[in-house]
Amino acid sequence: MIQDIAPHTYHNEYLPREAKDDDLVLGYGERTVFLKENQDTIQFLPVKEYGEGKREALTYLFTIDETAFYLAKELKEETFPGYSYVPLSRLRTAVPGHLAFAGVTGSQLARWYQSHTFCGKCGSPMKKSDKERMLYCENCRHTEYPKISPAVIVAVRNQDQLLLTKYEGREYKRYALIAGFSEIGESVEDTVRREVMEEVGLKVKNLKFYKSQPWSFTDTLLMGFYCDLDGDATITLDRQELSVGEWRNREEIPDEGENISLTKEMMMRFKHHQD
Ligand SMILES: [Zn+2]
Repeated sequence: MIQDIAPHTYHNEYLPREAKDDDLVLGYGERTVFLKENQDTIQFLPVKEYGEGKREALTYLFTIDETAFYLAKELKEETFPGYSYVPLSRLRTAVPGHLAFAGVTGSQLARWYQSHTFCGKCGSPMKKSDKERMLYCENCRHTEYPKISPAVIVAVRNQDQLLLTKYEGREYKRYALIAGFSEIGESVEDTVRREVMEEVGLKVKNLKFYKSQPWSFTDTLLMGFYCDLDGDATITLDRQELSVGEWRNREEIPDEGENISLTKEMMMRFKHHQD
């Protein structure tokens, strides 16, 4: 999956330090990321090419192995030959995988910093804490932590069949599983039951947590569950959300698309009789 970057190690601890020459600079536009492409390989801008006098304007994000990643507010294509803004979705297939993961993880932090420039309570400029990944308002003491939205991925089994769906009106056209965000005041297990009922009109039982996945493309922390159909198997599709919802035998489940998502891993485990 996208977060599985071994032998590299992602260090999420907030330990801001001065940028070194070999550290890397991340920049983002509207659903785009600033990088250099070399056939399939991607490269981010090294700090030494970014400019000596401007390092103080960089925001520390995280570290992978010994390399720290920084967010730059404005990177211009004309200033850095060979670099350009490419769609964020490019990171789904980019190599090396640890840089693709850095790019997409950085995008979630970038969206958070950019949308919290000012205090949501009093409108004063927000300041960065130097102790933790937190923004605070000096005027009213309001604090903001990074936005992470919990959501579920649900593999609904009916003996040797799995419920596959396709989402309506989305960029992603391949088969998927039932998915949805948790609401306030709701347990994750209740999210599973509610989403399955809302999207396909089915009851489920035997919920079993499988794995979680950070999915920074949508600011999400995904939690994957397997469960069994409880009762009637007749699907009533929510046409606003789904274009397809159908039961498929193990051998009919297509092995398509990249192996970066929890959805894909859960579908393949069922296909190969592992769940
Ligand atoms: Zn304030």
